Amino acid sequence: MPSPLELAGVVTGSMVLDQLYCELLVDRRLRGGGYRRLSPGEARRLARALARLLEAPPGRRLAGLTVVGEAAGVYWAVSPDLAVTRGDRVAGLVRARIRRSLRVYESDYGLLQLAALVLDNQGLLDDDAVLLVIVGESREALARGIEETLAGPRIRPLIGRGWRASTRVYDRGEAEALAGRLSGYWLGARPPEPRPSPSRCSRCPLAGECPYSAAGHSGGAGGSAYI
Ligand code: SF4
Repeated sequence: MPSPLELAGVVTGSMVLDQLYCELLVDRRLRGGGYRRLSPGEARRLARALARLLEAPPGRRLAGLTVVGEAAGVYWAVSPDLAVTRGDRVAGLVRARIRRSLRVYESDYGLLQLAALVLDNQGLLDDDAVLLVIVGESREALARGIEETLAGPRIRPLIGRGWRASTRVYDRGEAEALAGRLSGYWLGARPPEPRPSPSRCSRCPLAGECPYSAAGHSGGAGGSAYI
C-alpha cells in the first residue's frame, strides 16, 4: 500500500489542519481522493513566488504567500494568511480568521510553526520571528485587528472591539518536534492515530461511519476541538 506521502506528493495546509484535528480524518480523506493534489511543478512555482517576494526592496510590508519546502523528510506547502518581512527575511507569520467565538486553536499555531520551520530551513526566517493569530467576529473587525496589531514597530498581542490577537515567539525545537510527530504518519512509519472526543467527533464528517467515534457520548476526554 502506498504511504500517505506517496499519495499526497506535497502535504498542503488543509491536510495539516485535518491532521491536527484527527489523523484518521486526514487518512480517510486522502485515500478517498478528497484533496486536490499539488504537483511538484506547482509547488516549485509557489516557491519561486516566495523567493521573488523576498527579493523585493527591503522594508516592512505584508504579503500573502505560500511557504514551500522540506522539513522532517516531508515536502510541505503551507499558506499563512500574511507575512511581515524585515529586510530579506520573514519576521512574522500571521493567521487571520473570522470566528464569532474569537477562539484561537493550537492548530492555528501548528500551521504557523510548520511554515516558519520550512522558512527557517531555507535561511529565510528572522532570528526572533513571531507567530501571530488574529481572530475577528466579522470581516470588518478582523481588518481592524490586522491594522492595529501590525501598526506599531513591534508585533504584540492585543484585544480590540470584536477582535483578538495572540502571539508566540517562534521556537525551532517546538516546531521540529511537531514536524517530526506529523511526518511519522506521512512517511508511513506509523498508522494514523484516531483522536476521539465527544466535542471533536460531533463535528467530524466521518462521525456516522467511524468505529472510534465518541459523538453522542457525554463526558470523557476532549473539550478542545483541536490539539
Ligand atoms: S469521528 Fe472522531 S475519531 Fe473518528 S475520524 Fe472523526 S474525529 Fe477522528
